[in-house]
Amino acid sequence: MKNAKEFIKVKGITKYFGGSDKPTLEDINLTINEGEYIAILGPSGSGKSTLLRTITGLVKPDNGEVIFDGQKVTGVNPYASIVFQTFALYPWLTVRENVELGLKAKGFPKDYMRRKAEELISLIGLDGFEEAYPKELSGGMRQRVGFARALAVEPKLLCLDEPFSALDFLTAENLRTELVELWQEKRMPIKSIIMITHGIEEAVLMADKIVMLSRNPAHIIAEIKIDLPHPRNRKSPEFERLVDSVYKLLIKGKIEDNEEEKLSKSISSGKEKEAGEKPVQIPNAHVGVMSGLLELIDDNGGKMDIYQLGGDLMMEIDDLLPNIEGISMLNFAEVREGDIFITELGREFVELEKDESKELFRKQLENISTFRLIMNVLNNKRNHTMKEEFFKELFKKHFPQHEMEGIMDIIIDWGRYAELFNYDRDSEELYLDNEENEEI
Ligand code: ADP
Ligand code: MG
Repeated sequence: MKNAKEFIKVKGITKYFGGSDKPTLEDINLTINEGEYIAILGPSGSGKSTLLRTITGLVKPDNGEVIFDGQKVTGVNPYASIVFQTFALYPWLTVRENVELGLKAKGFPKDYMRRKAEELISLIGLDGFEEAYPKELSGGMRQRVGFARALAVEPKLLCLDEPFSALDFLTAENLRTELVELWQEKRMPIKSIIMITHGIEEAVLMADKIVMLSRNPAHIIAEIKIDLPHPRNRKSPEFERLVDSVYKLLIKGKIEDNEEEKLSKSISSGKEKEAGEKPVQIPNAHVGVMSGLLELIDDNGGKMDIYQLGGDLMMEIDDLLPNIEGISMLNFAEVREGDIFITELGREFVELEKDESKELFRKQLENISTFRLIMNVLNNKRNHTMKEEFFKELFKKHFPQHEMEGIMDIIIDWGRYAELFNYDRDSEELYLDNEENEEI
């Protein structure tokens, strides 16, 4: 694009939440030019909404600043509006009144408001529904009202926070196409769009540039220009090639980073005493799903394209990736360039008899610091029993607070499967099955 004009500059944004010593966003730097449609892509919980809220002034960063159209953002930014996944419409107001609300806030005269609201309603394709109430509308129509209301304040920046994810596929696809058309034909007087999504195809379909975030903390791991002309065709080879390469980058960011971390941990673990060892976060991976994946990869000659694997299993990337992280963490598989390879150990795990494969799983768990910590505690307690709550306290500095419950469930799932320890649901305690002789 010739003489691109800078519109928004995000400079070194870091944000911490709720006393955690790990930031949610870390040193985010991003420039958005006038006329750009940006898609922010990242796993759920990575901080996409937080970044958007920082740009619009709803969240105050701990470090760094946002420059918006030449001015530093210091409070809620009146020139930005957000469309959310589900837009809260006032049920007692008609479509027109709901849209006018945005205009009222600006203090426009009454007849101007009416005309403007009608224009917007027509723009977003709701002609004839001006006097309808939200409960009479389908989900897609309600989301259209959401768009109209967001546009009513005449924003310079339109922010979209997963605006299509609550809609069925066809409705979503229609809205996507129409939005791109409105944007391409410059029928909305806005300078830029920032859209959050966790759908790679959605990003490639709509945006000029994809900004990819890693998780925990969020960094920008890639900026990818999408210069396919509109209208874009999901089935074209260029489209598929781009989706595939974005997919590979996303996986690389998420898993290969972990591998590096793991490597540096295993190198340093020789020096570190156990007491100082940090627990690693266990991904949301289920033993059953991990075994199934390994069998599938093994059946496919030991190697699979992760993108294809997701398609074959009809699994969303958010559900698939933690399981892939899990089998990588256990050294049953390795991820390289978007492909997953089964390791020698992984093959053994699949092919051994049940008891022996359990034994192998147990050995692998003993290599993971989190499980070593738990075993240390249980071994050192005289009754070999400890409250689950104790471990949550122990881990709370290292794992995100809101994921603690889920992570503990997974730890217990893995540990019980491996027969490393046992768990009593009633007393919520982990314990060692030392009285094995009782069972014989
Ligand atoms: P995403 O939109 O990528 O799914 P979010 O930005 O919503 O992610 O959240 C990122 C992380 O920040 C999550 O761990 C979430 O729990 C945390 N978080 C977001 N907002 C708040 C808040 N107001 N207070 C505490 N934690 C928050
Ligand atoms: Mg979000």
